[in-house]
Amino acid sequence: MKVLIVFTHPNANSFNHALLENIQAGLESSGNEVLVKDLYQEGFNPILSAAELAELHKGKIPPRIAIEQKQLLWADSLVFIYPLWWFDRPAILKGWFDVVLTNGLAFEYSSEGVKGLLKHKKAKVIITAGGSKQYFIDNDALQLIHRPVTDGTLSFCGIKDVSHKIYYDIANLSDNERLAILEETKHSGQNF
Ligand code: FAD
Repeated sequence: MKVLIVFTHPNANSFNHALLENIQAGLESSGNEVLVKDLYQEGFNPILSAAELAELHKGKIPPRIAIEQKQLLWADSLVFIYPLWWFDRPAILKGWFDVVLTNGLAFEYSSEGVKGLLKHKKAKVIITAGGSKQYFIDNDALQLIHRPVTDGTLSFCGIKDVSHKIYYDIANLSDNERLAILEETKHSGQNF
């Protein structure tokens, strides 16, 4: 399989980065081709500019968007790894969606309504959260975690085969619990 990992964390020493390293190792050990898109490290510009929007409205794809879209179309599968920030993805990842998932490539409007165009792809979403699972349950907030990426974006683009892993309370876990998560992540890559 060809797998595009879209990684979002500013710190290369973060727990999220360790998740990236482990899933990449697992995927590669079982023969998958992996392309990592590290949004902070590459200085991805999350702003869809007025000029770019005008080009898109004329049916033209600006060069930097074409490069991103080529990588997206290359992949059979997508993996997203990010920390939960304000019950959502970090803004730079939101910007990647704004820039890359254009009308005509990721979805289109037809007489039957909106049609997702990426339905042949599968996806995995790995999220870390500072809050405990109990906090999300008590505040009726579990559904907020899935809404921005899985429901609001991937599903809209036709990607229904989405698996999730959410790791809560990251800072309060023991070292052994964190190591177990990293092992589990490596195995999930091997068996993706
Ligand atoms: P890190 O801080 O890098 O690490 C977490 C722990 O893992 C640390 O103890 C670290 O020592 C240890 N660790 C790091 N690397 C390894 C390794 N290789 N092996 C073993 N252990 C390791 N949380 C919510 O629940 N809801 C929110 O709405 C929310 N909003 C936020 C908004 C902002 C702007 C920010 C900055 C944080 C927010 N948080 C929120 C908290 C955030 O989700 C967590 O801080 C984040 O998920 C933790 O992941 P990390 O990779 O940054 O962890």
